[in-house]
Amino acid sequence: MTEPTCADTISRFTFDDCAVRGEHVLLDTSYQDLLAVHHYPPVVAELLGELCAAACLLAETIKFDGILTLQIRSEGEIPLIMAEATNTQSFRAIARQAQEATSRDFSQLFTNGQLVLTIQPRNGEPYRGIVMLDGNSLASSLEAYFKQSEQLETRLWLHSDGQRASGFLLQQLPGDENSSQWQHLCHMAATLTQEELLTLPRETLLYRLYHEESLRLHPQKPVQFQCTCSRERLENALVSLGEDELRDILKERSVIDVNCEFCNRFYSFSEPDVDLLLGNSAADPRH
Ligand SMILES: [Zn+2]
Repeated sequence: MTEPTCADTISRFTFDDCAVRGEHVLLDTSYQDLLAVHHYPPVVAELLGELCAAACLLAETIKFDGILTLQIRSEGEIPLIMAEATNTQSFRAIARQAQEATSRDFSQLFTNGQLVLTIQPRNGEPYRGIVMLDGNSLASSLEAYFKQSEQLETRLWLHSDGQRASGFLLQQLPGDENSSQWQHLCHMAATLTQEELLTLPRETLLYRLYHEESLRLHPQKPVQFQCTCSRERLENALVSLGEDELRDILKERSVIDVNCEFCNRFYSFSEPDVDLLLGNSAADPRH
């Protein structure tokens, strides 16, 4: 297997002759870093890879400063799976209560599944879009989302084999839509195999598809698995529990231990830490 030179990067490409943009992402070490935190069944690990690739692609296509989250809730074998990507090309992800998932059938894994896309800008109100899963794949559900919510023709190809995850996106930009050219570009991309997407460097991949087009490659950006948790964030979460709750926990244990479920990082709060927190938080009129 050839070693891709574009591992753990995301990059944009555009066409000189038509209003279409593309994004390509390949996750390798970053994806393995994510999987090292939890032990997931193979099908869950692969879907997490696809979801992370999708979140990274969408975070690049939507201009914003903050965190983009893709979350699926369902009544199937995977009740909850989510991935977050930031506008600075880091991502994290998690699946909950999915240790028994074995099905290879998308509709069994995500029975009555709902996909929620949230954009949380660093400053400003969150945006939230919801789409029912179409029962076939994550990629087709996201395509449906873009068509419904953004009125943008978008095609996505997502693959993961548990070692690497890759995503390829084409999007028709508003303005001079040329549907035959769009169809042609999509038709070519649809010939990509899973193996090609997971192993080929982007130059080879794009040359194979579009050597007849006038293609512009934009600089690659490194992508990494990085959790957005911090002691400060957990302090805020603890304070929101209220003083009574915190004192109750401290009665049973001398310290409050918290593990971040995304990265397994361990945070510990002693009684003096909690005193300081409560003293620093806005005065609660009940106390
Ligand atoms: Zn964390």
